[in-house]
Amino acid sequence: MPIPFNGGCHCGAVRYVCLEEPITVVNCHCEDCQQIAGSAFITGVLVPEDSVKVSGELRSYKVEADNGNGITRNFCPICGTRIMVELEGGIGVGVSYTTLDDNSWLEPAIEFYSSKAQPWINLCSNTEKRTDMT
Ligand SMILES: [Zn+2]
Ligand SMILES: [Zn+2]
Repeated sequence: MPIPFNGGCHCGAVRYVCLEEPITVVNCHCEDCQQIAGSAFITGVLVPEDSVKVSGELRSYKVEADNGNGITRNFCPICGTRIMVELEGGIGVGVSYTTLDDNSWLEPAIEFYSSKAQPWINLCSNTEKRTDMT
């Protein structure tokens, strides 16, 4: 795996480097992710806490997940690109798959909230399906 790997936002104001190997790659079909993405789901690369070093300014806001843990969503204040979500409870950080400079070496392994997936979505054939986030 090409560690470290780099990425950034659409306008170039925010760049990051991740120093550790990803834990897994997740598609999330929850209603929050659909609204934020403006699309049917979000793909996130789960990496260990503190493994992402960001240059440039991020804006963030915090919401509560179904399990009561906080989720801090970070985005570029200029172009609005979602960069990463910090997940409380030692789970790690979810980096937006589409912000990696090269994501060709990663593909989703798990689908969260498959129960909320849009009816016109065909879930990936080789992923583990979870009806919620647990
Ligand atoms: Zn930007
Ligand atoms: Zn979600």
